Amino acid sequence: MTLADPTPSTAGFAASTASPRLFEKLSPVTGASLGQFPIADSEAVDAAVARARAAFPGWRDTPLAVRLEALNRGRQVLLEHADDYARKIAADTGKPIFEALMFEIAVVPLFLDHYLKRAPKVLARRKVSTPLAMAGKAGYIEHFPRGVVGIIAPWNFPFQLAVLPVISALIGGNTVVLKPSEVTPIAGEVVADFFRRLGLPPGVVEVVGGDGSTGAALTRANVDMLFFTGSVATGRKVAAAAAERPIPCELELGGKDVFIVCADANLERAAEAAVYGSMGNCGQACVSVERAMVVDSVHDRFIELVKRKLEKIKVGGPDENADMGPMTFAKQLQTVERHVESARQAGAKVLTGGQRLARAGLFYPPTLLTDIRPDMDIYREETFGPVLPVIRVRDEEEAIRLANASEFGLVGSVWTQDLEKGLRIASRLESGQVMVNDVYSSVGHPGLPFGGVRSSGIGRYHGDEGLLSFMNVKAILVDRGKADYDPIWYPYNNKLASAFEVFRGVAGKKLGSVIRGFLGLRKASIDGHDGK
Ligand code: NDP
Repeated sequence: MTLADPTPSTAGFAASTASPRLFEKLSPVTGASLGQFPIADSEAVDAAVARARAAFPGWRDTPLAVRLEALNRGRQVLLEHADDYARKIAADTGKPIFEALMFEIAVVPLFLDHYLKRAPKVLARRKVSTPLAMAGKAGYIEHFPRGVVGIIAPWNFPFQLAVLPVISALIGGNTVVLKPSEVTPIAGEVVADFFRRLGLPPGVVEVVGGDGSTGAALTRANVDMLFFTGSVATGRKVAAAAAERPIPCELELGGKDVFIVCADANLERAAEAAVYGSMGNCGQACVSVERAMVVDSVHDRFIELVKRKLEKIKVGGPDENADMGPMTFAKQLQTVERHVESARQAGAKVLTGGQRLARAGLFYPPTLLTDIRPDMDIYREETFGPVLPVIRVRDEEEAIRLANASEFGLVGSVWTQDLEKGLRIASRLESGQVMVNDVYSSVGHPGLPFGGVRSSGIGRYHGDEGLLSFMNVKAILVDRGKADYDPIWYPYNNKLASAFEVFRGVAGKKLGSVIRGFLGLRKASIDGHDGK
């Protein structure tokens, strides 16, 4: 079986009623209007879900190899459209075109490559070993798709954080209704264009543009699973809606990611990474460095290096050949201002930055804070902006204790030249991902599962786990079916002594007892059926 030629399908963006409500998108770079976009209401969302449900049996029954081949057309689509897509994403978010290309688009073929190889293995039926006490039977595990998956995406990486979960769900045979963020509607259209160009059967991917009300409608619609990326506050609402049904729900939420610098770290590399890891995407990443914990003996030298590097970052719009753009979302900029201001008033030192730039757009400069204390908002809450708070710690033990006391547990990193020590600390951090001497990379490694603990979320995507998240598990037990009856079935008459023999054999790990007991049960069974 093959799918149709890759001609654009009709499935796509802005499934909405005749005269939908509109919202306006403003440029984060200039503040000028970038256009008006429709808000899909609950009727439009339900209609999109109905189309996805109608498409589900056909897509589920399409062989995996054919599904993979269809998704692999994305490689060609991106080769042809990457320039246009990257520029549109950059205009919508304000990020440098370099970041739009590398962190939004280039990751897609990387993950496609991985899943082309792994999916046939991960999704294949596998046999599990059967205990002797169940001799004659075989156990298997296989997976089947959840059905229609509702995916709600955020604005910070609006292409990657929509496309990767959608692809992961589609590989397993699910169909998808995707809701991009109202903050980045142009990127939402890019995502819809990408899937339209794959030429998938109608209804396999539906994209419903809109605002929070559209997302809320999707959580109430007739979907079989919800996959949400965004804030903790909205994640709670999504989980509550999922619990009402109940349906499975995966939450990819925020972080307060720690960066632990040991005394023996390569300080030059650590400082460079702290700058990159806190300022990349203007700090609007759940994998951003949000708290650097630096041991006392190297703290001052680290600060010196970081400050110098931060001051070299060129800030500007996508057309200004800058390293760092504006923030994407005005509300998030207000959070940054609140965190920095309240920390300053509570005694933190602002060594560089710390005030919105005097130009149009949502520009905030790279900001370095020291003398941070645990009672400050910036210590506890996610800032999600271009700010690096540095905390002086006595030693690594204190850093580990403080890191694990956080409400969040998404990503952490450890900086040391002793790799064994790095791994030991990594194992002790209560966090979904940990890097030793690196930042950002673990989320880009397609073989590594991604997700958090505590308020950072529930579930994993990426890696093998990222395929299985979108699947139901099925256990299959097969008996050869030759015997007319099983030794443990009725009648129980005369079986108790043999049952104890089997039990003692299993519990006491005595193979002879298991066999003797089993043969006794069989004999009692035969006698029982012969009427003896
Ligand atoms: P939000 O929670 O505000 O929004 C996320 C998505 O949910 C958007 O599409 C939004 O729509 C939608 N939404 C809003 N209200 C509802 C509702 N009641 N029901 C269902 N959906 C709704 O998060 P942000 O967009 O502000 O994203 C930033 C946050 O996401 C940060 O805290 C960050 O850490 C986290 N994040 C986590 C990641 C991870 O992988 N762990 C990755 C990236 C971000 P709309 O925007 O149209 O209102």
